[in-house]
Amino acid sequence: MSDDFKVDVRGVHKAFGTLTVLDGVDLQVRPGEVTVVLGPSGSGKSTLLRLINHLDRADRGFISVGGELMGYRRAGGKLHELREREILKQRTKIGFVFQNFNLFAHLTALENIVEAPVSAQRRSRSEATRHARELLAQVGLEDKADTYPRQLSGGQQQRVAIARALAVRPEVLLFDEPTSALDPELVGEVLDVIKKLAHDGTTMIVVTHEIGFAREVADTVMFMDAGRVVEQGAPARILDSPTHPRTKAFLEKVL
Ligand code: ADP
Ligand code: MG
Repeated sequence: MSDDFKVDVRGVHKAFGTLTVLDGVDLQVRPGEVTVVLGPSGSGKSTLLRLINHLDRADRGFISVGGELMGYRRAGGKLHELREREILKQRTKIGFVFQNFNLFAHLTALENIVEAPVSAQRRSRSEATRHARELLAQVGLEDKADTYPRQLSGGQQQRVAIARALAVRPEVLLFDEPTSALDPELVGEVLDVIKKLAHDGTTMIVVTHEIGFAREVADTVMFMDAGRVVEQGAPARILDSPTHPRTKAFLEKVL
């Protein structure tokens, strides 16, 4: 484990029953860097993000976020587990943005954003509300504070979801195909918000098939297939001259 990395994943294995989904995955992300994860459906991308966010637990290996171990490791054969309270505390270091927005339908945009700071971080409602309004402005939705998710477009919902993820002042943002559920004309407004965050130095891991975005924003592109990291490197190298046939085949399909 090293303080040089905001996210440090080493030798992570995960199986569901007899299906090995992650087969020794390593991933290091330095502060302020953006890693874009590419790979075919079923290659283990979502599982990797879920493990980093502690929504699920690895069988083997370790994951640290912000220099702190996230939940488990096998050191000298001993499995170390964190208590639920520690897990919840560590999870507030991470903002997660899902493909399907996952906003609370019965809460307004503003209430969605205020929820976690108040309930998980015990911040005062007035301070969290002030912060939430700033975040809504940051994603270009200052006029939608009192609007419910069903009254928003998909692109607007996803921008609220990004504001919500930022509300806990996370050290790292994880995005799982943030634009895959959007109509094509709404993809740009969401990618623009993510690009702005990248330029502001937010540490991020973004699973996406948006190759143009990867080229423009990523510091590192990582290609996964069948639970393994097939290759990774600078975007130009991976996207323009991939060495692995699986990467080539994948890029030919999505480009
Ligand atoms: P990706 O995000 O790259 O499409 P996933 O991480 O979602 O891939 O899934 C990887 C593999 O793990 C798939 O074969 C999927 O069916 C399987 N899988 C994911 N979650 C579960 C689960 N909770 N139980 C059983 N199998 C799962
Ligand atoms: Mg997925």
